[in-house]
Amino acid sequence: MKQLWAPWRLEYVETADEENGCLFCAAAEAEDDEERLVVHRGPRAFVLLNKFPYTSGHLLVAPRRHIGEFADLDDDEALEIHRLAERSIAALAETYAPQGYNLGWNLGRIAGAGVVDHVHLHVVPRWAGDTNFMPVLADVKVIPEHLAESRRRLAERFPTG
Ligand SMILES: [Zn+2]
Repeated sequence: MKQLWAPWRLEYVETADEENGCLFCAAAEAEDDEERLVVHRGPRAFVLLNKFPYTSGHLLVAPRRHIGEFADLDDDEALEIHRLAERSIAALAETYAPQGYNLGWNLGRIAGAGVVDHVHLHVVPRWAGDTNFMPVLADVKVIPEHLAESRRRLAERFPTG
């Protein structure tokens, strides 16, 4: 299996522990969706773009509660996260027409989790040949603008109310 190449993720993993506070809680509490890259908010969970994506449109679905243990998600949260993942896939399909998706939970640092104390589900759109796709975006200066545009387009795909 080929690894996706996303060099900026190394910096992220190296600096994640040094950040003050929890980025998911900060996003959950923030009023500025654009700054926090929030795509959609539900009563118990929310969807945001990964600032350090594996591919274009890489989304994260997280509970609003600061929970580090997968087993601590209650039934309502688990169901809402599942439904938001479905809606994320639908939004990505309409926006980017990917050819497949990886959905997964990285539990623990060794499993690749950058944030270990607030569980979150990755929704990663995939295209044939996308292991060669990321170098196009490897210029870190390009990424913020790209993310802002992705956030805006995806947010429009989530029905409100
Ligand atoms: Zn948190």
